[in-house]
Amino acid sequence: MTTVNVLGAGLAGSEAAYQLARRSVPVRLFEMRPASMTPAHRTAFFGELVCSNSLKSVSPETASGVLKEEMRRLGSLVMAAAEAASIPAGSALAVDREEFGRFLTATLEGMANVEIVRREVTAIPEGPTIVASGPLTSPALERALQALAGPRHLYFYDAVSPVVTAESIDMARVFRASRYGQGGDDYINCPLSRQEYEAFVEALVSAEVVAPHPFERAVYFEGCVPIEELARRGRLTLAFGPMRPVGLVAPLTGRRPFAVVQLRGDDRAGTLYNIVGFQTKMTYGAQRAILRMIPGLERAEFVRYGSLHRNTFLNSPALLRPSLQLRGRDDLFVAGQLTGVEGYLESAATGLVAALNAARLTAGAPLLTVPAETVLGSLIGYITDPARGDFQPMNANFGLLPALDAVALRGREKKRALAERARAAFERWIEDCVLEAGAHAAWAAQAAGAGPEAGALRAAGR
Ligand SMILES: Cc1cc2nc3c(=O)[nH]c(=O)nc-3n(C[C@H](O)[C@H](O)[C@H](O)COP(=O)(O)OP(=O)(O)OC[C@H]3O[C@@H](n4cnc5c(N)ncnc54)[C@H](O)[C@@H]3O)c2cc1C
Repeated sequence: MTTVNVLGAGLAGSEAAYQLARRSVPVRLFEMRPASMTPAHRTAFFGELVCSNSLKSVSPETASGVLKEEMRRLGSLVMAAAEAASIPAGSALAVDREEFGRFLTATLEGMANVEIVRREVTAIPEGPTIVASGPLTSPALERALQALAGPRHLYFYDAVSPVVTAESIDMARVFRASRYGQGGDDYINCPLSRQEYEAFVEALVSAEVVAPHPFERAVYFEGCVPIEELARRGRLTLAFGPMRPVGLVAPLTGRRPFAVVQLRGDDRAGTLYNIVGFQTKMTYGAQRAILRMIPGLERAEFVRYGSLHRNTFLNSPALLRPSLQLRGRDDLFVAGQLTGVEGYLESAATGLVAALNAARLTAGAPLLTVPAETVLGSLIGYITDPARGDFQPMNANFGLLPALDAVALRGREKKRALAERARAAFERWIEDCVLEAGAHAAWAAQAAGAGPEAGALRAAGR
């Protein structure tokens, strides 16, 4: 039976290798540690958590909580490891990171059809392959990816602006317009008086920021400078930069405001807006407090915070299909943070989907697309939407889900309704998957000469 190569045994690669192996697909899992370390990893464990030990909320009313349920239903190894290694942390799923890494490593080392190769990969192999080498992919493999994707489609830094929900913007305080009237009403503009601007700059200058990792020093290139750094360069730097008011007239006063913060639509449904040019290293708490000083954003709900860090990722909207296959090569899949998802769990989840599809490909079965109404499907839909320009990484959040048909629900009620719809859509889909997985198992069993029942159970995740 065809072997699938998995490059990198991080969150995505470990999950992918496990999902393939339990479907009787032979796996060659490459991991360069401990011989070559990334600048952030410290151990030889698979799935090492390089920073926080939290896999976020378990609350069923959060996107992260629903994603956990979805992964559990698909028999996720990362979820099993997290639950086995969990430590008390209120409504978050926090883990003992060493136990977590040990669990993943021991499980994969114990699987007969997983061959573990501890060396750096420097070229993309021939044959079915899942690339899951993560945000700190080694330079040689980065070059290979660049050759494959094209120089314009591999990025090395995140310069992420915060994203807020449309419904949390106070529309009475802002106005829609594009600079010089070009581009219709595409932007939401938050006007600031001189006094408001000065208070905002004052807060930025003294804001608490996240300390950079040593390998992230001096990454600021012009066009990617954090707003607090711009504020420190001079009191009017922002007013001549991302907050310039030129070409805009506030309808309420009929005059050009002293400064303007622009918000641009971040999804097709118009439910999310990013704050243009507001990449920042401020702590999440400081972002919440200071960005809510902007007129119209007093009650802003943040679905993604701003950040700026080393992160290798592909321009997935141009390169990947919803199956996580490369557009130009059917047997090459990409998973994890390299696809432009953000977060431990999100990375593992894409590893799971890439593996489901790689297994199907080797068995000659049709590939799967996760429905858009589910949290996992909405995230994959976001990163693979070919209409998306100016791509930046995204975490799982309810703002990515298609709008509800029904009444204008808000706040908690809306989250609950979205979570329920996601659950129902996932259950319908997984029923189909199990049926199809039965067929897949029959193909796989035929190829492996194993009993169909055993194959069916494995493939169905039982
Ligand atoms: C510094 C930093 C801190 C982060 N903190 C958080 C956080 O607190 N919470 C959160 O949710 N997310 C965080 N992230 C984002 C992200 O969720 C994690 O990076 C996550 O580990 C990504 O999973 P992955 O499987 O894509 O990559 P990784 O988990 O990094 O796995 C990739 C694996 O590939 C290996 N590898 C790389 N190149 C090669 C090669 N050429 N050959 C063989 N093996 C190779 C690496 O050694 C690694 O084991 C952080 C990212 C970074 C860079």
